Amino acid sequence: MRERLVIGNWKMNPPTIAEAVELARDVAGRDAGGVAVGVAPPAIALAAVADALRDANVDVYAQDVHWEERGAFTGQISVSMVRGLAVGTIVGHSEVRRDLGDTDERVAKKLARAVAAGLRPVLCVGESEAEHAAGNASIVVARQIVADLKAAQRRGLERLVVAYEPIWAIGTGNPATGTWATTLVRTIRAALKQSGLDGEAIPILYGGSVSARSVGEFADAEGIDGALVGGASLDADEFAAVVRAFA
Ligand code: PEP
Repeated sequence: MRERLVIGNWKMNPPTIAEAVELARDVAGRDAGGVAVGVAPPAIALAAVADALRDANVDVYAQDVHWEERGAFTGQISVSMVRGLAVGTIVGHSEVRRDLGDTDERVAKKLARAVAAGLRPVLCVGESEAEHAAGNASIVVARQIVADLKAAQRRGLERLVVAYEPIWAIGTGNPATGTWATTLVRTIRAALKQSGLDGEAIPILYGGSVSARSVGEFADAEGIDGALVGGASLDADEFAAVVRAFA
């Protein structure tokens, strides 16, 4: 049976490191019912949150890493800075693709660097609204999977997590349906197989406006092993309800 996993992507929240620590402690105080729980705080709060969660059953993830190990990359963080604080890192989030210009080529290099450093990658893929409307979601997502995994060593990818995040559902309050997510998850598993991986063994999360209200749709859907949660992860009660739905 695949691991059930829910990760909170805090994005550029909460506003202070002290509040990030408080939120982390609040999350750690809840019963996860056997579901693996992770939080991805902003880079500046990684050390403090990692420290607060040292003895807790909550894993810490980075939101992004650079593809180089070190050098003249203003504003970036490397895998060696993250290692020791986090068990893994998100790569390919649509907001990073949109705001920082990440292409599949860059995402592939980041993922390869994360895997080589022993960090668990959480690879985000998903189609835009226009691609969705044009009926191209499966083609786009399959292409992303194959391209993003191209550079990584197969060894180390056993711990890969994929998050299917349709861009049109992120932060909009309009999640996809469970049926739609299941269809795309099948596409992702086929693309993972095409990349030489055991697609059936890799956890796939759904992300995009998951809340306590909408989570049932995905927890009950075939092939979905958990959620990547943005907005709703900033409220410990609501996040706990999302986690418990996958128990
Ligand atoms: C995300 O950005 O990963 C996400 C899923 O955001 P939200 O839950 O706010 O749609």
